[in-house]
Amino acid sequence: MLAAVFEGEGKLVLQDRPKPEIKNPTDVLLRVTGVGICGTDLHILQVPPAHPATKGIILGHEFTGIVEKTGSDVEEFEKGDHVIVDPHPGCGTCQQCRSGHPDRCTVLYEKSGIPGQAGTIGIFSDGAMTSHVIVPVQSLYRISPSVPSHIAALAEPLACVVSAASKLKVQPGETVLILGAGPIGQLFTGYLKACGAGKVMVSEISDYRRRKALECGADIVINPHKEDIKAVLARETRGGPDVVVEAVGPLLPQAIELVHSDGRILQFGHDELARPEIPVAEIVKKEIVIYGAFIGKFTFAKLPGIIESGVLPLDKVVSHRLPLSKVHEGIATLRKGLGLKIILEPED
Ligand SMILES: [Zn+2]
Ligand SMILES: [Zn+2]
Repeated sequence: MLAAVFEGEGKLVLQDRPKPEIKNPTDVLLRVTGVGICGTDLHILQVPPAHPATKGIILGHEFTGIVEKTGSDVEEFEKGDHVIVDPHPGCGTCQQCRSGHPDRCTVLYEKSGIPGQAGTIGIFSDGAMTSHVIVPVQSLYRISPSVPSHIAALAEPLACVVSAASKLKVQPGETVLILGAGPIGQLFTGYLKACGAGKVMVSEISDYRRRKALECGADIVINPHKEDIKAVLARETRGGPDVVVEAVGPLLPQAIELVHSDGRILQFGHDELARPEIPVAEIVKKEIVIYGAFIGKFTFAKLPGIIESGVLPLDKVVSHRLPLSKVHEGIATLRKGLGLKIILEPED
């Protein structure tokens, strides 16, 4: 089977790999029907890398598929089931898993071989940029076959957004500023609007992504290179947004400066090389709450309902559907800022 393999520093190579086989009784073999290219994949392939990954593995952690075969202990799923996949399910038995942090599972940490990194499928073990992948049964959630695969493939980034947004507890009518309108910024726009935010403002330098943000439900879009963001906020809010979502990486100082007193900031943008200078006194004087949020925890079970309801403009978040063999074209498009979520479809 054709597979996109991470070969170390900046290298992603298309290779022929044998179809994987079920080893554990709780394993499930999936036929991949859609896999997203994530910003994390771009970070992994950056030189120097801005995110670790295990050399030699097949990338792809945002995926959906159809059950092809199940291990002897798998009872809840059968051949033909359409599923979404939590790529960091945890072992379920270690101290971290049992205290609610499957992403910090110590058993999977060991498997990843990289201290401090969970064993995410598609980052530290073989993922889904190929036609077939083995996943543990605890990763799977059934979804209606009526959901197109390029929409179901958004489940993983959506899980991260739903998990992060639950910390913010946005109230009806509150004002929200989102910094960065990549796929995550777009998902936050649609989701927080659906949660009742009164005015969602999105700051983004790309013309294309600002246009997409309007389609995803933004009330106001701002080009921070051309407009004075403070002047826009002075006009559109009473003293600043109640909530700022940082979906870029190094913009926490700006979020602290712009948010309303007593406001909440969500640091979601995740760049391991970013070292911004933090105006600590402002956090104190404005009595700001800053949340960090990483991946979806215990949110996957809610996702089939959210996705199937059609309440979110998910189709607007997918900019391209490409055959897997065009993965490099997809990555180049994203690096130029010309796409949003690109879904690869294995040609099998
Ligand atoms: Zn991702
Ligand atoms: Zn564990």
